[in-house]
Formats: sequence, structure tokens, C-alpha cells
Amino acid sequence: MELASSIAALHDPGSRAKAAAELARRVGGDALLIFVWDERAEVFVPARGMRGSIPGGPEWKAFLQPNPEERIFRFELPDAPEGPLLPVVALANALCIFAFFGGLGEERLEPLRPFLPLLGTLFRLENMERDAQARARLADDSAAQANQLSQALNTTRCALEQALRESREVGRSYASQAAALRASEAQLRDLMKKLEASNRELEQFAYVAAHDLQEPLRTLSNFCGLLRKRNAEQLDDGGKEYLRFILNAAGRALDLIEDLLRFSRIGNDELAARPVDCSAAVAAALAALDAAIIESGVDIRCASLPIVDADERQLTQVFQNLLGNAIKFRRKERPRIEISAEEQPDAWKIVVADNGIGIRPEYHARIFAVFQRLHSRELYPGTGIGLAICKKIIERHGGEIGVASTGEAGSRFFFTIPKQRPPQPAPHTELNVPP
Ligand code: ADP
Repeated sequence: MELASSIAALHDPGSRAKAAAELARRVGGDALLIFVWDERAEVFVPARGMRGSIPGGPEWKAFLQPNPEERIFRFELPDAPEGPLLPVVALANALCIFAFFGGLGEERLEPLRPFLPLLGTLFRLENMERDAQARARLADDSAAQANQLSQALNTTRCALEQALRESREVGRSYASQAAALRASEAQLRDLMKKLEASNRELEQFAYVAAHDLQEPLRTLSNFCGLLRKRNAEQLDDGGKEYLRFILNAAGRALDLIEDLLRFSRIGNDELAARPVDCSAAVAAALAALDAAIIESGVDIRCASLPIVDADERQLTQVFQNLLGNAIKFRRKERPRIEISAEEQPDAWKIVVADNGIGIRPEYHARIFAVFQRLHSRELYPGTGIGLAICKKIIERHGGEIGVASTGEAGSRFFFTIPKQRPPQPAPHTELNVPP
């Protein structure tokens, strides 16, 4: 009866160790350890509540490796002492092992044998319950993790959707900006076309007006000439003076008109560009300035000049205007002119430098406009169109023109001619006036 109550006390894991010690004592042993079969690990493991020490031996922590058929049991004791194991007598079936320590015989265990299957089942159930609890905990943990993960995923998805919306908005705003840009580009092109057309109209108007003005002016000038020749003696001194004024003014007007027509024509003719030796263009310009060269005694030095792709007649005109000015706007000392060239990556730069009166920097841009002069005609004759013609010619060739001068020690006029000429605009075909 007492034995049965000790066995019954084993059912509670909380008091199992105590009940086991009691049972061991009852059958004459020192201690009892109970192991149960663990299906997952496929070894016998200590039953719940059975962790402890082997009496007089080390802590046992691990499991028992049985060989139930041969009834050999081996304790896995991580920190087992050297020497023989404690004497053990075991009662075992496929579900559990009762290992009794101490000097007792097997026959003492016989009364326990009928309880073995029941106890084994009990311990198995305990283990299974523990497993189930562990799994449930694991499942709970996984559910929590899954929850966290799904929250994180949700946040990421929201962020992505937001980013997508923003990028769509940015895309839409880019698209509308691009459309606005295209529209303003089209507007700009339209305006440019209108501007070009209006420029052409203006040029045409100036050309026609200048051309038509020539005729009455010539008539006026001719008849004034005739009047002076035939009827001069009928006029008093005042009348003769007035006639002189009229003739001078008509002559000046004709000069201006002629220059204006020359200026207009530059845009009308198609550019007859071909390789031109700049030295030859300079020589032609000097030949045209022969009288002024002799009269001024100018010292002209010309470095070696390149061959450029240009309209020879127009290039000669540029040299003629620049050299003519360099001689005309001289100081008292002997005029000196140096012509040189510099090679640039994409163009040739030609320089015409003089030791003349110079040009103050604030006038550098102005002098290239039509009819802009810095001095009176009495001081230096001219119509103020020479540099405007140079600018128009050089720009038609795709180059640039400018001047460097402090206004004291001479001027350095320069212009560039690209090595490769840009595509030319079509000539003004609608101009239908005789040259
Ligand atoms: P014009 O020679 O008929 O006056 P240009 O258009 O050739 O007309 O020149 C415009 C003005 O630029 C000149 O009136 C003059 O004041 C100034 N200029 C041009 N070339 C020179 C130069 N080499 N030295 C000083 N001034 C110059």
C-alpha cells in the first residue's frame, strides 16, 4: 500500500523528485531517476521534475542512451568524474526507464513492473503537452512576428505608394513643364521668323527708299551744277554760297545713299565663299587705297596670313575699310599698321593694329552700328557705315568682329573667320529691285 502511494505521488511533476527519492528508499536504493522516450529527439530524456544530481555523483543534465534489448544503459554525464559509474538497476519498457542507484537487487523492483506502462504513458503525455505548449508559444511568436512583418510590409507598401504617387506627380509636372517649354520654343521660333521677316522687309524698304531717292537727288545735284555753270554771273555772292551748300548737301546725301545701298546689298547676294588667300585680299585693298597710302606715308607691315574660306570681294572690302580707317584716324606722327593672324582651334583671327587716335572703350560697340561716327566730317570725312559693313560681312561668314583700344595708344581691330563655315540662310529672293 505504501509502495502504491509512493508510485501515485510520482504523477505530480512538482513533487516528483521527492516521490522518486521516497520510492528508491522503499525498494532499498539510494536514488531514482526516471527517463521518458522523446520521439522527436529519439532518445530518453529526464522526465519532468527529475532534474537533479545523481546521489554522490555529478549533475546529470543530458539524457540516457539506452539499448533496451540488451538491457544496457549508459548515462551521458557531461561532467562525469573519472572512475566506475555508480551501480544502477533499471526497470524499463519502450516508454520509460526507472534507474535506481545504490546496492539493490532486480527482484526488489518486480512489484513496480505492473505500473510501468501507465507511468510511461503519463510521462509521455507530459512531454507531449510540453511540446504542444512550446509549439503553441512558437506559433504565438510566429504570429506576432508575422504580424510585425505584415505591419512593416504595410508601412513599406504605403511608403512605396506615396513615392509612386509623388513620382507620378513629378512626372506630370515635368511633362507639363516640357510641354510649356516646347510651346515657348515654338513661340520663340515663330517670333524669330517674324523678326527675320520684318528685318528683311525693313532692309528691303531701306534699299528701295535709298534706291528711289538716288534719282531725284541726282537730278537736283545735276541741275544745281548746271545753274552754277550757266547762271552763276546772275547770282550775287550770297546766292552762289547757297548754291554751294545745296550742291554739298546733295553730294553728301548721294554718298550716304550709295553707302546704304552697299550695306543693303551685302545681305542680298549669295555668299560666294571659296578658299581665299588673305594676303591677296590685303594686296587688293592696298591697291584701292593707293592714293591715301602715298599721301599719308603710312608704314604697313603684314605678317604671313592664312588661306580662309570666304567671299573674296567681301573680305577685300573688310580689309579696305579697316586699313582705310587706320590711315584716316591717324595722329600727327607717321602712321604705322601691322596686319597679323592667329590660329584658333576653330577659326582664324586676323588683327589690324594701328598707332592712330584710338577709341575710348565706351564707344567700342557703337562704332559698328550704321552711321555712327565719333568725330565731325570736317575733322575726319566719312559716312559712318564702313565698320557696319565689316560687321555684316564677318557675321555672314559666321565670325566675330571687335576692337581693343584704350583710347590713347592706337587701336587693334580684329575679326575671325571660322575654319568651317556654318550653314547659310537662303538669300532674300523677294527683293526685286535693280542693283
Ligand atoms: P567712317 O570711317 O566713315 O567714319 P566707320 O564705320 O568706318 O565710319 O567708323 C566709325 C567710327 O569709328 C569712325 O567715325 C571713327 O570714329 C571710329 N574709328 C574707326 N576706325 C578707327 C581707327 N582705326 N582709329 C580710331 N577710330 C576709328
